[in-house]
Amino acid sequence: MKQLISQGAEAKIFLSNEVITKDRIPKTYRHPQLDNLIRTRRTKSESKLLTKALSIKANVPKVLNTSPFKIQLEYINGDRLSETLNSYPEKKQFQVMQQIGEQTALLHQNNIIHGDLTTSNTILSKNKLFLIDFGLGFISTKLEDKSVDLHLIKQALEAKHFQNPKELFENFTKGYQWSDSEKIIERLKIVEKRGRYKH
Ligand code: AMP
Repeated sequence: MKQLISQGAEAKIFLSNEVITKDRIPKTYRHPQLDNLIRTRRTKSESKLLTKALSIKANVPKVLNTSPFKIQLEYINGDRLSETLNSYPEKKQFQVMQQIGEQTALLHQNNIIHGDLTTSNTILSKNKLFLIDFGLGFISTKLEDKSVDLHLIKQALEAKHFQNPKELFENFTKGYQWSDSEKIIERLKIVEKRGRYKH
């Protein structure tokens, strides 16, 4: 049986026999040709990024099939951290944050930017931390783009995990260790300042 598990602005997510289908839905306010182009581009781009992430052994869902508007992915059965992180014992919270840091470091070393790094897009499955939803992801070598990913996770922690966001982020940075990590964490201060100016 095909079950609709999520309906976002961009896509419908179905689950059937342990397979996720992400179906990019038409936007009627866009010109149909332009809409087709945008939907096919995003689908292709997400599939390419996931394939690249899999090739470097990052924990992301396997790509099973790609067609112009649809992508089929391995279903990751586990805890969506936006819903469960706050209820874990502190030690587990810190371990999980470190794992998010490690996975992000692996992506960034390979110039993959997630683009929507929040606890909603992280699933803990059998103690293995997976990153999902690369729909806003892209390839970049820029420190700036990498520090924006850090900014996004930090903001998500402040918004949803307000018991101890500071410690949670510190544990993220413990896992986020690679040759450029210091520069990227330093750069975060500039990104944060600019973020505040916008409000
Ligand atoms: P997305 O639009 O890719 O962020 O997907 C929306 C929601 O569907 C996510 O927040 C998850 O709850 C669920 N989801 C998407 N892909 C997967 C997957 N591969 N395995 C398990 N759940 C998923």
